Amino acid sequence: MSEKSPRDRETVVIIGSGPAAWTAAIYAARARMEPFVFEGAGSRTMIPGGQLMFTTEVENFPGFRDGVTGQELMAEMRAQALRFGTRAVWEDVVEVDFERHPFLLKSSGGEEVLADSVIVATGANARWLGLPNEERLAQSGGGVSACAVCDGALPHFRDQVLAVIGGGDSAMEDALYLAKFAREVVIVHRRDEFRASQIMADRVLAEPKIRVEWNKVVVEVEGEESISALRLEDTVTGAESRIEVAGLFVAIGHTPNTAFLGDALDLKDNGYIRTPVPWRTQTSVPGVFAAGDVMDDFFRQAVTAAGTGCMAALEAERWLAHGGAEEDSPAPPDHSSVDPERPSERPPSTVNT
Ligand code: NAP
Repeated sequence: MSEKSPRDRETVVIIGSGPAAWTAAIYAARARMEPFVFEGAGSRTMIPGGQLMFTTEVENFPGFRDGVTGQELMAEMRAQALRFGTRAVWEDVVEVDFERHPFLLKSSGGEEVLADSVIVATGANARWLGLPNEERLAQSGGGVSACAVCDGALPHFRDQVLAVIGGGDSAMEDALYLAKFAREVVIVHRRDEFRASQIMADRVLAEPKIRVEWNKVVVEVEGEESISALRLEDTVTGAESRIEVAGLFVAIGHTPNTAFLGDALDLKDNGYIRTPVPWRTQTSVPGVFAAGDVMDDFFRQAVTAAGTGCMAALEAERWLAHGGAEEDSPAPPDHSSVDPERPSERPPSTVNT
């Protein structure tokens, strides 16, 4: 990292590499803040680029009349940020100290970076059912996945019966994607109606290769080297049933990626970062901002993530311009006294377009 990081004290460090992070980087770079981005080291269920890397066609990001793939969109955002001088490394931040200023961040590469301001945009990670065989087969590549778009086209899933768990938009998207390759897709949902948007649910219900097991939960994943069947339980009657499947795709939502923060920031009850002032990205620590899915448990869209990334960069710029980092004093732990009407808390008058 030191090769790419000429200074040991950064004006703004951005943690993450989804739409929120890259939009923050674009705005910060154009504001001459020379942003430094920790893109993430990548793992089996999370790769730099965030959740959009697991999406096929993005049809609702403005500006792409014919849609764009998630990978293309993220590659373009990243390239745009780098074009304006953003520096980025494929490392995680594993520990933070926000009680001192400049803030201290430790990376998975063993480096320590000082930062005048920080934007946390680490997104959210896929959830699992928590069944023993599910985890084992997911780790061994035995046909269990939380990413249909990554794994669904693999040869051993073709012309097979595949199960998707969940009733939200992700489950709908996964089922429609898998139906392109599979013989049959069975959606297992714990209730008798989908949570998904009407348009996605309608598409699923109109697809002849997809059927739904309503009011069912998975109680056991069967299979030695690879998955062979699911044992289901009816949530109304308690009756047990079994379906033979060659693949299991879990699409039951996400958990915000905040573990590396410890108790450095206030979190909401559901684990998302608390941003106390409406329409602000300022966290409980002045100078630390949060953007995207790690703080948004409501909209969770690429375009809203990008919007909050923009907001975070503008707020960081404003905070620094008003001397937030000038005195190297410990950051006050409580931000509840922030008055959104104070001039210093208003968005900057400069517009980086
Ligand atoms: P979600 O909306 O939270 O849905 C999660 C689903 O999983 C729910 O149906 C839930 O059941 C079920 N579930 C949760 N825990 C479970 C468990 N332990 N066992 C069985 N089922 C469980 O999550 P999401 O589908 O990932 O979507 C997240 C957000 O991203 C949403 O805002 C969504 O609109 C958006 N999104 C949009 C698109 C698109 O527009 N193309 C695509 C993907 C996601 P209950 O319904 O009973 O709670």
